[in-house]
This record gives sequence, C-alpha cells and structure tokens, in this order.
Amino acid sequence: MQTSKVKHAALRMVKASVNPAGAPQIVPRAAPATGDYHHRLEDFARRIHRTDDVGSIVSIIEEALREAGSARNEVPASVALAEITRAELEIEALKTELEQLRGMVHVDHLTGALNRCGFDQVYPREAARADRQAAPLGTALLDIDDFKSINDRHGHQAGDAALVHFAQVIKRSMRPSDVVVRFGGEEFLFLLPDSGTDDTARALSRLQQDLHRSPLVYGNCRLPITFSAGIAVRKTGETRDAVIARADRALYRAKSAGKNRAVTAD
Ligand code: GH3
Ligand code: MG
Ligand code: MG
Repeated sequence: MQTSKVKHAALRMVKASVNPAGAPQIVPRAAPATGDYHHRLEDFARRIHRTDDVGSIVSIIEEALREAGSARNEVPASVALAEITRAELEIEALKTELEQLRGMVHVDHLTGALNRCGFDQVYPREAARADRQAAPLGTALLDIDDFKSINDRHGHQAGDAALVHFAQVIKRSMRPSDVVVRFGGEEFLFLLPDSGTDDTARALSRLQQDLHRSPLVYGNCRLPITFSAGIAVRKTGETRDAVIARADRALYRAKSAGKNRAVTAD
C-alpha cells in the first residue's frame, strides 16, 4: 500500500474541501459556526500525518467533507448563487475522489488484485449469493513456484515485475465475475462463482496454459512463471476459514507432488 501517495491525495482533498478553489470566501465566512477554518484545516492535516492507516485517512477525509457540507448550508444569502453552485460542484468532485480513495483501501497497488481487506468485504457477498442460488463457489489458492529464485537471480524488481505480469495474465484469462485476491507475497486466492471442482480446475488449467504461452519478458530474459494450486469448493454451512484451510492443504500437496499443478481438496 503506497500510504504516502494516499496521504498526499488526502491532504489535497482536505485543503480543497475546507477552502474550495473558485469560492475561497464561502467557507471562511460560514466557518465560525464550526470553528476557525485555519485551525480545522491544520487539525485534519495533523491527523492525516499522524496515521499510516489508509482506512483512518479515509475517515478523516469523510469528516472534513461532512464539515464542509454543513458549512455550506450556513452560507449567507449575500453570497452569489453561482459561487455556491461552483463550491457544490467542487464538493461533488471531492466525493468522487473519496470514492476512488476508498476503493484503494481494498486493492493491492502492485497487482491491482483485491487485498485481504477487499476480500473481507467481498467474501460475504459471494457466499450469500452462492447460498441464495444454491450454486457452488469455487475457491482456489495459488502460489507461484520458486518465486524466491526469480528475486535471487534477477533482483527484487524482477520479482515485482513477475507479480504484475502474473496478475495481468490472470485478468485476461479469468472471467470478469471471478474474484482475485493477493492473499500474501506471491500467493493469490480466487473465488469462482458458479463453479464446482471441474469448472475451477478447467479455469486454472486455462490460466496455466496462458502463462506458459506468455512468459515474463524481463530485459533480455524470458522468465517462465508457473504456479501450484489447491482447489476447494465450499460445502453447505462451511466457514470461510475452513474452506481456505482445505484449499491450503491441497496446495501443499500440489507443491509436494512436484509443483506446476492443481490438486483438489478432499
Ligand atoms: P515455492 O515454490 O515452494 O512456493 O517456493 P517460493 O520460492 O515461491 O517460496 P518462498 O516462500 O521460499 O519465497 C517467496 C518469496 O517471495 C520470498 C519473498 O521475499 C518474496 N516476496 C514476497 N512478496 C514479494 C513482493 O511483493 N515482491 C517481490 N519481489 N518478492 C516478494
Ligand atoms: Mg508462498
Ligand atoms: Mg511460492
């Protein structure tokens, strides 16, 4: 998570929300109801600087936007309508940015896959849908084979490039409805709605072939990437952790059996 980037965006948004460009006089005039404007700006900025937690940063921006919104309701009648409208448009744009920032909390920045926080959000929705439709929910845990040796032989940047490449091939190989999570360093978790064991195994086999056809090109080297996977299809009433534990055990068996393969859990 590139927290410094998020902080930078957050500070810009807070500044703009307290003092929107194009209507700088509106909030300061209305501000006495909510406290001194410069003081509030500094307070928000200080709180953003103090934390490295992106979720907290998002909450602080939400608070700043709420405050800016209520200040707008107290704008004196003498302020021209056009200025109020402009300020409101600015707030709308900031809200859109906030939505994007909120999205960033759930996404791994290197690969664009969901992170664990995103997975926590998405899993209950997918499980509930599977229950409602009495449909299977395929779960696969994937781990890139011998990833450490890519780092060791070609450097950490090559390792990062391999992760990005892997995520790109996943994206074009899997269905848009499949959920892809970066679960750990070089470990990914897939949720495949409407997919039983065979469908999940087929999807992984397709990914394996796509990866084989598209090795990572790094400098003058072509670096083949393979993965091992464990497949588990959720049983009725089975908890999330129990499914993942079964997939993890199957993954372990795939590694022990020689890697570059998918094994289905019992
Ligand atoms: P196996 O086939 O048994 O899975 O072996 P492996 O080498 O893939 O697994 P191992 O657990 O030994 O090493 C994983 C390595 O992944 C170690 C860690 O430094 C590296 N790693 C984890 N996250 C990142 C990352 O974001 N970028 C890079 N470049 N390396 C990472
Ligand atoms: Mg691993
Ligand atoms: Mg590995």
